[in-house]
Amino acid sequence: MKITRIEAFQVAWAATDKPSQRSAFVRIHTDDGLIGIGEASPMQGGRASLGMVVHDIAPMLVGRDPLDHAVLLDQAMHTLVKLGPEGALTGAMAALDIALWDLKGKLTGLPIYKLIGGAWKTALPFYASIGGNGDRDIDAVVRVVEARLRDRPAAVKIRFDNNRTTLDADIPGDIAKARAVRKLVGDGFPLAFDANNCYTSGGAIRVGRALEELEFWWFEEPVQHYHIHVMGEVARKLDITVSAGEQTYTLAGLADLIDAGVRMVQPDIVKMGGITGLLRCAALAHAHGVELVPHQTQPMIGHVANLHVVASLLQGTKPAEWNDPSTRTHAVFDNPPLPIDGLFHLPTGPGLGLTMNEEALAARRVEI
Ligand code: CA
Repeated sequence: MKITRIEAFQVAWAATDKPSQRSAFVRIHTDDGLIGIGEASPMQGGRASLGMVVHDIAPMLVGRDPLDHAVLLDQAMHTLVKLGPEGALTGAMAALDIALWDLKGKLTGLPIYKLIGGAWKTALPFYASIGGNGDRDIDAVVRVVEARLRDRPAAVKIRFDNNRTTLDADIPGDIAKARAVRKLVGDGFPLAFDANNCYTSGGAIRVGRALEELEFWWFEEPVQHYHIHVMGEVARKLDITVSAGEQTYTLAGLADLIDAGVRMVQPDIVKMGGITGLLRCAALAHAHGVELVPHQTQPMIGHVANLHVVASLLQGTKPAEWNDPSTRTHAVFDNPPLPIDGLFHLPTGPGLGLTMNEEALAARRVEI
């Protein structure tokens, strides 16, 4: 079997989507007619990653055996490493890795979770990941959380998504929002707080102490992601679990984060490594006794790829992330992932198990 062609394109979920709001998909075709699908990190619409796929990586892969896929991608990564391995290049690699696993599943007739060693469970709880709370007032935060509780999440994470150039902008206001959400859900309901990197070390400690009192489950990215040692210091000082790693793009980078003191890491399948990369992260985290709770905010391919891996984890200590859902993203699939009674069921079809609707895709596809 040989790779014959690689497509890389954006999908506009609505006609009004700006280029930066579109998803970034790839499709790998083989000479026996199979097609594998993958997704790159959607930052700025994934255009930088898609450009690298088309211009730099596809020429290295066409004509090669897709079953050599880890070798091919590691060769490409090391050839292109000076493009900057962190971000656009690893997003491109992630998309291709997912597509190659999808192909492997279609070739063997097996779902990916079977190929990577089996699932501990095939019905997976999720947490509602709710963004944009920095700009909302307290009442609006409570209302948006209340609405998401209807999906029956196992936990809720409130993300602040503030401007990363301003730190400690409104610590009392942030704590008040956390307190209001605690009051809404009641004692005992699992909650997480995502600072999106917007505190100083001292600010993070202050907020962390408040979250401990409010019995939050974890405190995500309290300080700038690039201040790895400070992230570790904050994690060591607080009793609450501090998490980070969604902006870590290499296995070595993840090792540094663990070494600094972070004990819950969150690499993202569409940002670094794809399925192969996330499995390597799982081994690293397990070797260090660190929780691996992947970050994942893409509603379709990224979400399903992540579920296959999460289901295979020996110690799945937290539910899978499910970002602010929108049914408009369902359009190009015949079987979009949807929770039933608070659980996502792993698709049983070959590969990812997602079936694309070609007509719907053609209507939303945007060439780069
Ligand atoms: Ca986050």
